[in-house]
Amino acid sequence: MRKLLMVRYGEIYLKGLNRPYFLRALVSRVKEAAKPFGGKVWLHDARVFISDVEDMEACMDRVRKVFGVHSVCPAIEMEKDNFEGICEQANLMMKDVNGTFKVDARRADKHYFMDSPQINRKLGEYVLMRNEDHLKVDVHHPEHLLSVEIRDQAYIYCKVYPAVGGMPVGTGGKAALLLSGGIDSPVAGYMIAKRGVQLVAVHYHSFPYTSEFAKQKVLDLAKILAEYCCGLKVYVVPFTEIQMEIHEKCPDDYTTLIMRRYMMRIAEEIAKKEEALALITGESVGQVASQTMEALATTNEVVEMPVFRPLIGFDKIDIIEYAKKIGTYETSSLPYEDCCTVFTPRHPATKPKMQKIMEGESKLDQEALIAAAVENAEIVEL
Ligand code: ATP
Ligand code: MG
Repeated sequence: MRKLLMVRYGEIYLKGLNRPYFLRALVSRVKEAAKPFGGKVWLHDARVFISDVEDMEACMDRVRKVFGVHSVCPAIEMEKDNFEGICEQANLMMKDVNGTFKVDARRADKHYFMDSPQINRKLGEYVLMRNEDHLKVDVHHPEHLLSVEIRDQAYIYCKVYPAVGGMPVGTGGKAALLLSGGIDSPVAGYMIAKRGVQLVAVHYHSFPYTSEFAKQKVLDLAKILAEYCCGLKVYVVPFTEIQMEIHEKCPDDYTTLIMRRYMMRIAEEIAKKEEALALITGESVGQVASQTMEALATTNEVVEMPVFRPLIGFDKIDIIEYAKKIGTYETSSLPYEDCCTVFTPRHPATKPKMQKIMEGESKLDQEALIAAAVENAEIVEL
């Protein structure tokens, strides 16, 4: 008999012939997550198991953040032929549980000497007889499920902890996330990473107009994302020179848009270098002047790669709820400036004219500015 963690996966179930590919990735990600806690990780019979871990709870919290994991249960593994032993362990497990319960047996081993209804009945009876003062059986709407899975061994558990779901990181290619210190972009990155996409982050920093605190805030956000994403490489791109040039040479009401076009171009260069195939932003229609339909069209057209905007139809209130759920909201709410908020025009163009953008941009040495920004980017591995 031993204690272990039983990890269940979600959407991978729906995969056909390529399921082994997704499972291999899942096991690798779970191994990475469980590594700091020691222990062994293996796949068996549609479950991932983690054994020999000292701090089960801490390990479980970590594994619940692995994309692809649907839920985690602390379980007891037992010799399946020892049914008396299974009953004793189940009884111990239910000693401190109050309310209604039912037994939910699953017999993956079809040669087992009892079928599932028999196990349900026998085990239910055993536990009920010994705990009648605080437990009652309710087969329709039980408050607690006492589960037993009969595989090559028997697994008993009564608590299922939900995990993040999604697909294992690395199975969905790679994309570059434009990461600001705001609320939206970390959520956008999380959503795409959850679909199995590996992220590389690009942050524009306008020192000394934006402070070291502002940069640290973004790195702190990246660190939170890194926990879900199996690490995160962040390019901190110096943006001051480009902003100064734009501010000096372009029409005031177009500076934000032109700046955003530069952000997209530089991100695409970095994405190519990183062999990423798409860009991700936290934009949402109508949120600010640079996110009207017209403005989005002008920033979209400077790059060839697909741009994913998972929040495009989200209200700010819903994005805030999401940010709270994934743990980025508090850090995002710290009051540090972003390069988008320095040099902001009083009346940014909401229905921009292409000709005016072109006129403004023609005064800038685009190639040199972009090359310098990419070359001088500081790379931080988290
Ligand atoms: P967020 O959208 O992350 O809450 P924000 O609202 O301050 O931050 P917006 O002005 O809405 O930023 O910018 C739209 C998108 O542009 C962001 O979601 C992000 O993808 C990108 N972006 C803005 N500022 C930066 C920056 N300094 N570095 C990298 N990307 C940025
Ligand atoms: Mg925003």
